Amino acid sequence: MDCIFCKIIKKEIPASIIYEDESIIVFNDINPNAPVHLLVVPKIHIASLEQVTSENSEGISKVFEVISKLSKQLDLKDGFRVVSNCGKNAKQSVAHIHFHILAGKELTCKMG
Ligand code: AMP
Ligand code: ZN
Repeated sequence: MDCIFCKIIKKEIPASIIYEDESIIVFNDINPNAPVHLLVVPKIHIASLEQVTSENSEGISKVFEVISKLSKQLDLKDGFRVVSNCGKNAKQSVAHIHFHILAGKELTCKMG
C-alpha cells in the first residue's frame, strides 16, 4: 500500500516526530499553516473518519488523550484547533486518518 503516513510510521521516510507511542505518532506538518501545526496520526491505517467503526475506534479515542497531553506539554493555553478533513469536499489530501493541531496564533476564520 502506497501510503505516505504508513511510510512515516514505519520510518521508511523521515518526519519531524514530536511524540510516539504504541498506537499514535505525532509529527510536524511539512507545509505548516500556523506556528504550531502538528499531525496526530493513529498507527492503524484507517482511510478517513468515514471508515471509523466500533472495531477500530480505540486508536481514535487515544488521539484525543494525546492531544490533551500535548496541549499541556507544548503550553498551548492560549488555544488550539483540531481539524480532520474527510473526503473530497473537505480537501483531504492524505488517505490515512489524521488530526491537525493548529496553534500559536489567533486563527482567522472559525470554520469552512
Ligand atoms: P489533509 O490535506 O487534511 O489530508 O492533510 C494532509 C497534510 O499532510 C497536509 O497538511 C500536508 O502538508 C501534510 N503532509 C503531506 N506529506 C507530509 C510529510 N511527508 N510530512 C509531513 N506532513 C506531510
Ligand atoms: Zn496509511
